[in-house]
Amino acid sequence: TTPLLEVADLRVEFRTNDGVASVLNGVSYHVNAGETLAVLGESGSGKSVTAQTIMGILDVPPAVVLGGHVRFHGEDLLAVKPSRRMAVRGEGIAMIFQDALSALNPVFTVGFQIEEQLRVRRGMSRKDARVRAIELLDLVRIPNPRGRIKNYPHEFSGGMRQRAMIAMSLALDPELLIADEPTTALDVTVQAQIMDLLAEIQRERDMGLILITHDLGVVAEVADRIAVMYAGRIVEQADVFTLFRDPGHPYTEALLASLPRLDLKGQELTAIKGLPPSLTRIPPGCPFHPRCVRAEDVCKTDVPEFHRLPGGRFSACHFAENLVTHSAGDLND
Ligand code: SF4
Ligand code: MG
Repeated sequence: TTPLLEVADLRVEFRTNDGVASVLNGVSYHVNAGETLAVLGESGSGKSVTAQTIMGILDVPPAVVLGGHVRFHGEDLLAVKPSRRMAVRGEGIAMIFQDALSALNPVFTVGFQIEEQLRVRRGMSRKDARVRAIELLDLVRIPNPRGRIKNYPHEFSGGMRQRAMIAMSLALDPELLIADEPTTALDVTVQAQIMDLLAEIQRERDMGLILITHDLGVVAEVADRIAVMYAGRIVEQADVFTLFRDPGHPYTEALLASLPRLDLKGQELTAIKGLPPSLTRIPPGCPFHPRCVRAEDVCKTDVPEFHRLPGGRFSACHFAENLVTHSAGDLND
């Protein structure tokens, strides 16, 4: 069957004063209806740029899409007219951002911003749009939605603003929601509430959800599958259980090793040594080789292909097969 969204071999570069930055170097992933895909990676790995390319909100120039496909229900959004692209935005695919304060318009009330979409895109009357907007605020558990609808974004707390942005993104009943670090700016308790809310809405609506994050803890809670990004590439894709139990890429191993462990309170975090490469000067061969504890000579010269591993997973490491445990259960796949 056709996935809800399929990104295939996406290649994007930024033309900057410092030179050409190869920001996406052949990114491929997919998400099905009712499924949560977590896209995990350090900042600058290309997670957000992939999302912006999907949404058609990359700044052009200096961003240039060199190639690839963004197929929504099989229709390549990189090949359709701008009007079609606009129609898909909001109704097919909606996006929420890390910073609700800058994503919401400060000069309009929260209610107006939700109602405006419903009136313009759905042709709803003012009255019907108001009723629906109140329902949406209620859905995201904003207390007293009837009163709150008249507030401006700055009158909301950070967590409430994030809820309001989620409400706004759901206004046109999207089939896919992309959430780009939706809880990073919030304190830990509120983070957990927002993630629970997103997970619940995703289940109830059978939506696809792409959750962009650098937080493995968040991923473990809500994701079905994980795509790990490094230097503008996907380096590993697996279901969440398998990836945590038996990582198939040294970068994933390093990320997991850097997780704070509750049973090791007070001990140092094992951060990954070194820094992600500059995207204007990506190392030859495997881009992770300068930081990889398993690197060998071949890694400095040959770009690793995607290896298909048992259990429907993929890893872009020359030694992927040696890294994973081949249990009897895996081989049934
Ligand atoms: Fe490490 Fe080599 Fe695998 Fe890259 S290909 S992740 S450098 S072992
Ligand atoms: Mg980002």
